[in-house]
Amino acid sequence: MQATARHLFILTGASRGMGRAMAGQLLAAGHHVLTLARHPDEALAARADAAGATLTQWATNLADAAPVATRLAVWLGEQDGAALASATLINNAGVIPAIVPLRDAEPRDLTNALRVGLEAPMLLTAAFLGATRAWPGARKVLNISSGLGRRAMASQAGYCAAKAGMDHFTRCLALDEALAPNGAKVCSLAPGVIDTDMQVQLRGADAAAFPDRGNFEQLKSGGQLTSPDDAARRVLAYLARPDFGTEPVADVRAS
Ligand code: NAP
Repeated sequence: MQATARHLFILTGASRGMGRAMAGQLLAAGHHVLTLARHPDEALAARADAAGATLTQWATNLADAAPVATRLAVWLGEQDGAALASATLINNAGVIPAIVPLRDAEPRDLTNALRVGLEAPMLLTAAFLGATRAWPGARKVLNISSGLGRRAMASQAGYCAAKAGMDHFTRCLALDEALAPNGAKVCSLAPGVIDTDMQVQLRGADAAAFPDRGNFEQLKSGGQLTSPDDAARRVLAYLARPDFGTEPVADVRAS
C-alpha cells in the first residue's frame, strides 16, 4: 500500500484573522503544521486532534525574529525532509502601526511593524530555504502582502513600506531560487480585504489623520469584506496551483 504524502506547513500569525483560518484548514486536511504567534491557541490543538493532524505551536514574538529563525533552522534540521512531499513557509503575521503621518510616528511602534512585517519574513525565509535546500520534495514560500505594498496611502508609510519590501525581496528570492537545484517556488500575494482585527483598526483610526478612513468604513457597511475563512480558502487554493511561483508578486483577486 502506498504511504500518504506528507506535507509540512510553517505559518506565522496563526492566532487570529486569516492566519487562524488557514491553520484550521491546513489541519483539517491532515497536514503537519508549525504555527508561530505570540499567543498559542487551545482550540487549534483540539482541531488537530480531531483531524489526526500534527500541530506544533511556538509562542514567539516576531518583533525579535533572529532567535526564532535560528530555532526554526535547528527544528527543520531535526525533521525527516526526505519523507515529506512538500514543505511550505507562509509569512502571514503583519502589523499596522499607529495610523498617523510618519512625522507623528512613535519609534518603538514603527520599529515593531517593520520588524514583524518585513524583518521577520526575511529571516524566517532565509532559515527555511537554507535548512531545506537538500530536501527532495517541493518547497514553497508564500508571503502575505497587501495591495498597499503597491499603492501608496497617507498615514500608512510603515505598513506600505513593509509590504513593498516584502514584494521586492520576493522578486529577488525568485531569481535566487531559479538558479538553485530544486529551487523553491515563491510568491508575495495580496489576499484582498478581509474582515479581521486589522480592518477594525483601520475603521477606528482618527479621521483627521487618515483621509481613507471613510473608504474602509464603506467596505464594511457595503458587505465587501471577505470572511477570514473565505480569504484563507482562496489563498491556500492559490498556493496549491501548479503554476504557483510563476509570478513572484501577485494578487489573489486577479486569479
Ligand atoms: P490580524 O487579524 O491583525 O492578525 C495578525 C496576526 O499576526 C495575529 O495572529 C498576530 O498574532 C500576529 N502577530 C502580530 N504581531 C506579532 C508578533 N510580534 N509576533 C508574532 N505574531 C504577531 O491580521 P489579518 O487581517 O488576518 O492579516 C493577515 C495578513 O494579511 C497580514 O500580513 C496582513 O498585513 C495581510 N492583509 C490583511 C488585509 C485585511 O484586510 N485584513 C488586507 C491585506 C493584507 P499574536 O497577536 O498572537 O501575536
